[in-house]
Amino acid sequence: MPRGFVSRSLAPSRDGREEREETAMHDHRKLGRELGLFGTDPLIGAGLPYWLPDGAAVRHALEEYVRTAERRAGYRHVHSPVLGKRELYEISGHLSHYGGDMFPAMDVGGEQFVLRPSLCPHHAVIYRSRSRSHRELPLRMAELGAMYRSEPSGVLGGLTRVRAIHLNDAHVFCTPDQAAGEAGAALEMIRRAYEALGISAARYRLSLPGPGGKYVADPEMWRRATALLTAVLDGSGLPYEAAEGEAAFYGPKIDVQIADGAGRESTLSTVQVDFHQPERFGLRYVGADGGAHRPVMIHRSVIGSVERAVAHLLDTHGGALPAWLAPVQVAVLPVTAAELPNAEDLARRCADLGLRAEVTGPEDGGLGARVRRVRLVPYQAVIGPAEAGGDHVALRLRDGRRIPSRPARDVLARIAALTGSHSTDLWSTTAPC
Ligand SMILES: [Zn+2]
Repeated sequence: MPRGFVSRSLAPSRDGREEREETAMHDHRKLGRELGLFGTDPLIGAGLPYWLPDGAAVRHALEEYVRTAERRAGYRHVHSPVLGKRELYEISGHLSHYGGDMFPAMDVGGEQFVLRPSLCPHHAVIYRSRSRSHRELPLRMAELGAMYRSEPSGVLGGLTRVRAIHLNDAHVFCTPDQAAGEAGAALEMIRRAYEALGISAARYRLSLPGPGGKYVADPEMWRRATALLTAVLDGSGLPYEAAEGEAAFYGPKIDVQIADGAGRESTLSTVQVDFHQPERFGLRYVGADGGAHRPVMIHRSVIGSVERAVAHLLDTHGGALPAWLAPVQVAVLPVTAAELPNAEDLARRCADLGLRAEVTGPEDGGLGARVRRVRLVPYQAVIGPAEAGGDHVALRLRDGRRIPSRPARDVLARIAALTGSHSTDLWSTTAPC
């Protein structure tokens, strides 16, 4: 199957899930253009894509999934600015270990500001904005925020190499005893997210430091953090490989690797243990003994950046994204102009249920041509005279299945339940939550 092929029909398998091509991958850049999801303009600059309405709908669905999963897992969300003073990154160590990837500082009234290369320093500062008790830990702080990387123009392209990155980030501040449990729980969030997204990890990597001066020098800290992540991976039962030279400058990490159609690997999700930044920022909590103690900082990202996540979703699924992520979830197709008011009413009822629906009427061509045009829309609701008379819908599913005419209210309730539970199954009644 050629790359970028989007009009394949998806046959239902025995368990009702859509069959996926195991090996064929798509080209997210081509699809982004064809499906009107995102674009770039030289006037804005390379590596700075903009999102069109359909792309923004996908992105919002993804962001809302993550925020809901985080709220359920006990995270609280914060917002912090995309700029920070130079000193912030001197303290965190980013300037000395990561400065080459940062945008140059801007001088404003004698003060130097930089576009942030990560969210960690802001979160560390928020943590220490007041005193913390051991009773507040683990304190799970999440933010889906922008960070910036000064990539050379030559390597930029699509959504995979960008200069503005919107990261699903979080930092768990916890006691040393809680760190392994928190890292394990983050891995489980990643597993559940991949199931909902219909994607799979190429491999799990324990990323360790390598030779060179890129890493903070503290052998005992590296030994403790590596032992902790190794125990988490061993306890998870997941197969993994250790790789030297892939750690963050402040600590080792578990990287969840994905692969594109050409077999090129990149990191999507990550779980990191950090003893360094709590030290640098002087973070403390008051322990049960009344004394001051140093928390551990777990950095974790469930879906990585929204840019890379959407690129990988398109590479994997082509335009046939899981229904809960589809830009248009329900295409409403009146057979003739006489059913147009019923179709518009159905689209309004979809919107009331939080579903994204669009009417494609007879002015857009014959029914067959319209069905072909909306072939990537997971649910295609056909309304002929019989359906209009009885407030019924005849449903076609993207995978070719047809659901005989039934009451519109029941059909919409089922679609809302399936998409609301982030099912990758288009019509099952036993959708996972
Ligand atoms: Zn971080």
